[in-house]
Amino acid sequence: MAALSDSRLDPAQARVDVVLAAGQGWTHELTAGDVFRIVDLEGNQAVDTLFFNARDTAERYSATETMRAQGNIYLATGTALLSSEGRPLLTIAADTCGRHDTLGGACSAESNQVRYGLAKKSMHNCRDSFLLALARHGHGLTKRDLPSNINFFMNVPVTPKGALTFADGVSAPGRYVEMKAEMDVLVLISNCPQLNNPCNAYNPTPVRLLVWPES
Ligand SMILES: [Zn+2]
Repeated sequence: MAALSDSRLDPAQARVDVVLAAGQGWTHELTAGDVFRIVDLEGNQAVDTLFFNARDTAERYSATETMRAQGNIYLATGTALLSSEGRPLLTIAADTCGRHDTLGGACSAESNQVRYGLAKKSMHNCRDSFLLALARHGHGLTKRDLPSNINFFMNVPVTPKGALTFADGVSAPGRYVEMKAEMDVLVLISNCPQLNNPCNAYNPTPVRLLVWPES
């Protein structure tokens, strides 16, 4: 597990301070220099997240570029979240969890059906939350604009044989990850509603989202 690092920023000084319930989507535009924090309020939540260049949304988060550049599959303090153009969208500046996933992808009606059975197809899922949030945001982004995402606080260890496993979480109540925006960034979040795998302990819970202007 990566080394943990704290932040000195005071929530009372935040410009944005909202609680996002499990199963809800959220969009927000960050200005370059803003600091963005996600707090896992009750622990073991999975926060499915994507980032876009707010000025040109064709440039968006790239899991491949991010992992290749840092030579590691897990996201932690110091990770530059790179775009499809290889440029940093944000940098992880503080992290009290120690591990975040960018391999597991987002749950969907289709994956719920394949993994858990036909009866689960109609359950709420992150892909639909992403699409609903994008529709509300406007600007014409659709399902074609959803690349592989980040799952903050989600633990997806890769075994020595290369297998991907969805494991019990390593997060806990109050743990957070904090990022500095390196350009103007559109944030897209689905606070995962998944009830069928341990990524959020079978109990989806709310998260707190804070933004501080550049200091
Ligand atoms: Zn999900």
